Amino acid sequence: IVQVRGLVKAFGEHVVLDGIDFDIQTSQVVVVIGPSGSGKSTLLRCCNGLEVPQRGTVDICGRRLMDHSRMMPEAQLNKLREEVGMVFQSFNLFSHISVLENITLGPRKLRGLSRAQAEQEARELLGKVGLAHKAEAMPASLSGGQKQRVAIARALAMKPRVMLFDEPTSALDPELVGEVLQVMKLLASEGMTMMVVTHEMGFAQEVADVVVVMDGGGIIEQGPPEQIFGAPTQPRTREFLQAVL
Ligand code: ATP
Ligand code: MG
Repeated sequence: IVQVRGLVKAFGEHVVLDGIDFDIQTSQVVVVIGPSGSGKSTLLRCCNGLEVPQRGTVDICGRRLMDHSRMMPEAQLNKLREEVGMVFQSFNLFSHISVLENITLGPRKLRGLSRAQAEQEARELLGKVGLAHKAEAMPASLSGGQKQRVAIARALAMKPRVMLFDEPTSALDPELVGEVLQVMKLLASEGMTMMVVTHEMGFAQEVADVVVVMDGGGIIEQGPPEQIFGAPTQPRTREFLQAVL
C-alpha cells in the first residue's frame, strides 16, 4: 500500500535520507526505530507529501505521490492525503472548537457528509477511543492522553487507508502513554495499516509485524520483532537497543 524507492532527501548539504527502499503491505504494522536524527520523521513526512525529496519515488495506494522531486498536482495530493491519516507528537487539535467539531470538520468539508452523519460517525469513533463522554468538551480541558486519542479519532474520521504515527506518546506523562498505545493496538487488531515511529519498544515487540531500524539516514536492518530484538545482525542495532532497553 506504501512503496518507497531510492528516496533521497537533503537539507542543503546535509543528506538526511540516503536512498531508502521501504514497503508497507496492507494491514501491516511497521514500527520505525532508531537514534535521534536518523531520519525517521523525515521518512514519515515524505510518505504524506509533507517533505519533497530530491530523488526517489513514493507510491501510496497505487498512485505516485512523488517522482524524483516532482509532486503530484495539488488537487490530487489533497485527495490522496485524505487516505493517509497522520498523528503527531503534538496533538494539533483546534483549540477554539469542541472535541466533536474537531472530528467532524474534515468529514463535512472533504467527505461531504451532513452534520448529522458526521456527528454520528464522530460519536462512534469517540466511543472507540474511550471518550464518548467528552464529545462536547473543549480540547484545553483534556489530558494529554485524551487529546491524543481525539487526534487519532479525528484522523480515523477521514476513513484513511493507512495511518502514520510520529512519536504519538513522546509528549505524554508516563501514566498516560498506555491509554494511547491501547487505542493503537486496537486499530492494529482491526487490520489498520500503520507506520509508527516510536521509542516504545514494548509496543514494537508486541504489535509490529516489521521493525525497521534507521541510522544515519538509512535503513540498517529490518525484520520481525523477534529477529530485531532477539538476534539483531547489525552492531549498530545492538548498540541502539542496549541504549534504550
Ligand atoms: P528524532 O528521534 O529526534 O525525532 P528523527 O529520526 O525523526 O529524530 P529527523 O527529524 O527525520 O530525525 O531529522 C533527520 C535530520 O534532518 C536531523 O539531523 C535534522 O536536524 C535534519 N532536519 C530535519 N528537518 C529539517 C529541516 N526542515 N531543515 C534542516 N534540517 C532538518
Ligand atoms: Mg522525529
